[in-house]
Amino acid sequence: MLYEINEKIIRLEREGRKIIKFNLGDPDLPTPMKIIEAAFEAMKRGKTKYASAAGEAKLRKALAEIHGVDADNIVITPGSKWAVFAVMYLLLEKGDNVIIPSPHWTAYELTTKSLGADAKLIKTRLESNWEVNVEDLETLIDNKTKLLILNNPNNPTSKVMNEKVVEKIVDVANEKGVRILSDEVYADLSFVKTKSLLEYEGEHIIVNSFSKTFTMSGWRIGYVIADKALTDQIIKLNQITFTNVPVFIQETALKALELRDQIIKTMRENYRKRAELACKILSDTKLKFTKPEAPFYVFPKFDGLNSEVFALNLLDKGVAVVPGTSFGDYPEHFRISLTAPEDEVKLGLKIIAEAFK
Ligand code: PLP
Repeated sequence: MLYEINEKIIRLEREGRKIIKFNLGDPDLPTPMKIIEAAFEAMKRGKTKYASAAGEAKLRKALAEIHGVDADNIVITPGSKWAVFAVMYLLLEKGDNVIIPSPHWTAYELTTKSLGADAKLIKTRLESNWEVNVEDLETLIDNKTKLLILNNPNNPTSKVMNEKVVEKIVDVANEKGVRILSDEVYADLSFVKTKSLLEYEGEHIIVNSFSKTFTMSGWRIGYVIADKALTDQIIKLNQITFTNVPVFIQETALKALELRDQIIKTMRENYRKRAELACKILSDTKLKFTKPEAPFYVFPKFDGLNSEVFALNLLDKGVAVVPGTSFGDYPEHFRISLTAPEDEVKLGLKIIAEAFK
């Protein structure tokens, strides 16, 4: 379906139509100039060679300080997507299964299946505030369950998990010996307080990224935090695959961390404004949705909607969204990604709102 939508966008743009792209989870804002300059400076200093497969010591140390772990627990990866893949590749065997609360970022499910494991989806609903039912989760766990994936805040709902629920989930996972992979790529820009899984009982695996926080998606840099036995294995996997994230990019990441507080504050405010605008425009329609608690997404529902047909038709009106079926069994939902300049956000939302008056 995403393929059909992308093809239609390309065709319409070729015909000279302007499409407001609410279909991408890629920040529209440019990478801050000081970060770009740091890359050039690092290249001029010769940071263009092969290097450690674990990542640069300085960067690992800086991240370790932020997260309150040892540098040995951190490995730098080309985006968090690679980190997710590496963890799954190393922990899963054919016939194992992974539990994934849904709606979900499809890479989890696709990666699981590509490794011959089963993805057991646990459906959450807008009507229950997207909360995971812990009893349902417990009954899904069997002796082949190797991993439980939490994505907090969530793509596509922008919901932050209730801490009490996370606590219960962690208790169940610890008791049953199931490891948790916590994807926290939206946490830094969250509008409400989030608690990293590192703060809960037990040994968990965290993936995080520079992509969303610092609008550095195309630079491909993220990291994984895990116990030393697992990080050692990831480093070996890095060695036999991509070798290392380019050092000049790691240097820019260090610069980003230096500017972290200011950048996060600015970015968060920007996305918060967009989310508020979206709530204001959409609340005047028959759409149901939960207020985004993090960037960039809204995941509204309209009873009886065929969101695949809707998404294709909406393109004719100049707006691209993603049907809910791309995130699990959610045909009545669609995902709006507020990653466009404010005037486009306003216009695009008004066009969507018109369809549901
Ligand atoms: N995790 C989630 C939930 C995402 O939505 C995305 C990208 O959209 C990623 C991870 C991948 O990010 P990265 O650029 O770090 O690979």
